Amino acid sequence: MPQAFDVVVIGGGPGGYVAAIRAAQLGFKTACIDNFKNAAGKPSLGGTCLNVGCIPSKALLESSENFERVRHKFGAHGIAVTQARIDVATMLARKQKIVDQFTGGIAGLFRKNKVASLHGTGAFKAKTSDGYTVEVTDAGKTEAVQGKHVVVATGSVPRALPFAPFDNDAILDNAGALALSEVPKRLGVIGAGVIGLEMGSVWRRLGSEVTLLEALPGFLQAADEAVAKEALKVFTRELGLVIRTGVQVTRIEQSAGQMSVGFAAEGKDEQAEFDRVIVAVGRAPNTAGLGAEAVGLDIDARGFVAVDAHCRTNLANVFAIGDVVRGPMLAHKAMEEGVAVAERIAGQAAHVNLDHVPWVIYTSPEIAWVGRTEQSLREAGVRYRAGQFPFMANGRARALGEPAGFVKMLADEQTDRILGVHIIGPFASELISEAVVAMEFDASSEDIARIVHAHPSLAEVMHEAALAVDKRTLHI
Ligand code: FAD
Ligand code: NAD
Repeated sequence: MPQAFDVVVIGGGPGGYVAAIRAAQLGFKTACIDNFKNAAGKPSLGGTCLNVGCIPSKALLESSENFERVRHKFGAHGIAVTQARIDVATMLARKQKIVDQFTGGIAGLFRKNKVASLHGTGAFKAKTSDGYTVEVTDAGKTEAVQGKHVVVATGSVPRALPFAPFDNDAILDNAGALALSEVPKRLGVIGAGVIGLEMGSVWRRLGSEVTLLEALPGFLQAADEAVAKEALKVFTRELGLVIRTGVQVTRIEQSAGQMSVGFAAEGKDEQAEFDRVIVAVGRAPNTAGLGAEAVGLDIDARGFVAVDAHCRTNLANVFAIGDVVRGPMLAHKAMEEGVAVAERIAGQAAHVNLDHVPWVIYTSPEIAWVGRTEQSLREAGVRYRAGQFPFMANGRARALGEPAGFVKMLADEQTDRILGVHIIGPFASELISEAVVAMEFDASSEDIARIVHAHPSLAEVMHEAALAVDKRTLHI
């Protein structure tokens, strides 16, 4: 007889491990199946986010930013450092230590919450009278488990260009981009999206000449247009990234130890030579090996597991969450969906509001936003008022030596309800939370304008942006 569980979670990334922990907290007998193995060949929980995504990328961003500060920013403080150099091996070891602590931490959380952790690939085998049989296969060995409820949290995988498969030596996906053992002299990045900008920043600060080749005609089109414009200026003029938009990459060839990338831009064929190429053109939902067909689980035309607003699939008692379903491919979105499905299984009425999921890009300056962009409001014919305030006029930002950027608030013209907040500047990742809370509570810009913000703090820029909506800023 297969071991029986109330809840079987397939996938141990931020969606899956959080769903498993919350289900166990709610009293369900829970198992989490995960197949990720790290570079050392060891099972490692936490999925893309902890192993080869959010956490290691932020570790490298911090290391490289410190290097940048030492070389270019400490002088203004009167701190002289001669001959700063980066030891990439030490930097990578620090990153891996952080990753190992966190992935090991998930194993500890599973033990604490009595979640059964099963290593292997989970595949639906059959629908039974009391739920589903899921087979777990690892290294040729298969065991079956029985789940009354199943949560699919199998995440996403990097998209490759059809003519350039990843080898993680010369053509790199996210895992390869996070593990380069030396600083490439010339680094090509295909796709100027979130990964392209974060990883491009890391290696640029460490000394690479970095060129980003982006297919879309504009830069960072998902962001508010004013933020994208400011970002393009800072990233190209100050950081020294070369960013080409409206580029169609047609080939990547390796010869004599270098990569030759052919592309069309402005109607002309061009070619560029690089030592390494990162391909970051988006990620695809991961349903390979899941056995969806064995039980008739609906997969939509784009390859996502089809779900409703509450992450319910077409099958009774089967839910799907995180990158493998519609919505932003973000760890915090996956985690909140994990909590919500566990609570729904327990008969509670949890819900995740996808309209208020914050986005953060951990460049320098950071970019963060929540809600509608100005261009989307204009296109939709929504009447709004906009208020913007620069970090330049903020004492804390000046003391930090981080004066670039601004906060922009968009509010409904009639009701003053906040519709969107866009930040480019220091600690935008932290500042955006105030906007998320405000929007979840249906706050107006006047509400933020009347709240006391500590002085001197970066949050005062949010306060002034709210005042700016009503054209009554105090400090410009
Ligand atoms: P995943 O994290 O992909 O986890 C899925 C897990 O399921 C994996 O361990 C996989 O091996 C396993 N699995 C798949 N199929 C099976 C199967 N059949 N059986 C068993 N196991 C299976 N998001 C942010 O919010 N902030 C960031 O700063 C951020 N930075 C990122 C940086 C990079 C370089 C990348 C690549 C992504 C980043 N993301 C970030 C996105 C974030 O990593 C994902 O949104 C998040 O990991 C999705 O979580 P998930 O649980 O849905 O899937
Ligand atoms: P992305 O969607 O952010 O960016 C991909 C970029 O590649 C887009 O600008 C797209 O127009 C471009 N592109 C697509 N096809 C192309 C082609 N053939 N040639 C050139 N450019 C092309 O995707 P990503 O950067 O690969 O990241 C994947 C996902 O991971 C993101 O959507 C995001 O959800 C998540 N992520 C989040 C963070 C964060 O939250 N800070 C960091 C990294 C990744």
